[in-house]
Amino acid sequence: MTQSFFDFSRLELEETCKDSGIPKMHAQNLFRAAYKDSNPAPWSREGLPKKYAKYCAEKFVGPNLRVVSEHLSQYDHSVKFVIELSDLRQIEMVLMPESKRVTLCVSSQVGCAQACVFCHTGRMGLGRNLDASEIIGQVWLANKWISEHPQWLVETRLPPQQRITNIVFMGMGEPLDNVPAVAKSISIMTDPYGLNLAIRRISVSTAGHLDGLEELVKIHPAVRLAISVHSAIDAERSKIMPINRRWPLAQLIQKLRSLPTQQENGLLIQYTLISGVNDSLLHADKLVEILDGLNVKINIIPLNPVGPSRMKAPETQQLENFRDQIYKSGIRVMVRYSKGQDIAAACGQLVIQSN
Ligand code: SAH
Repeated sequence: MTQSFFDFSRLELEETCKDSGIPKMHAQNLFRAAYKDSNPAPWSREGLPKKYAKYCAEKFVGPNLRVVSEHLSQYDHSVKFVIELSDLRQIEMVLMPESKRVTLCVSSQVGCAQACVFCHTGRMGLGRNLDASEIIGQVWLANKWISEHPQWLVETRLPPQQRITNIVFMGMGEPLDNVPAVAKSISIMTDPYGLNLAIRRISVSTAGHLDGLEELVKIHPAVRLAISVHSAIDAERSKIMPINRRWPLAQLIQKLRSLPTQQENGLLIQYTLISGVNDSLLHADKLVEILDGLNVKINIIPLNPVGPSRMKAPETQQLENFRDQIYKSGIRVMVRYSKGQDIAAACGQLVIQSN
């Protein structure tokens, strides 16, 4: 049976190759060619003895996903891609250029099981988990797209050889509901023979899945974490984020306190501000109170309107008052406007219409 080449970490590949008599050096070269040269069939490159190439061609297949459509933002040059998987299901990813870096926002699931009420993906329910090849495949596709669109780099004032520098698991899905695949994809991202990204350039965002958190930090203790808090009051948080009923705030905060590496590196707290729901000064004070003593930075995300929801973004004044109230406490805080507003690529807007 064939298997996606992109589903193997380097160690797994070395192991599989060894079992078939292929020396480690060749396994490493195959891995490097797949990720550094974006080669979809690395076994076809020169330098690999024929018998090994034949074995690999029979055993492996290339990337198992493809871009069906791309949408370029006229405001900020971000690009949203709709991607089709081998079972014809679809996901989305978003490429975001910045002054000296390029961030890719990847999906970890088709849909999501967490059902946060303000999030479009949450309204879809869970389709299925992505496997590691489908996660790392997004990065592979995006790097390939960049190399084939030099004009995009010119327009974004980035150098011609620029490739993805940062990954955020902030697309569709709850990454900590799918730790095995997420963790393996991070191993490939950070592998010196793979994409060779520093672990501090990879952020995993979670609605507060504590079992998953525990599992992930065991494997990747230094991965950056972003925690979606959105309310510091249990009863109110449970209404907008059902996951809070399973892991309430006290447990979440206690868990965050128990992570020494995360304390050292700092945690990102995400707070989507919703008019009349979680945007009063009292809410700001409560947030400061529960975060007391933690090394955090807060990103306030004004709600992006989604689908038929009646929820609204806050007025500018309310947003500023909320931010200033937190700022006064000494916690670092900033308002983060989502990119790709004109192409429905903003936080919470990723959704695939089923037809
Ligand atoms: N499941 C993960 C990953 C999603 S990341 C998580 O919950 O963290 C996307 C971020 O955007 C999360 O903080 C999410 O809560 C937030 N978000 C979702 N819908 C949004 C919306 N309509 N407007 C603004 N932010 C939203």
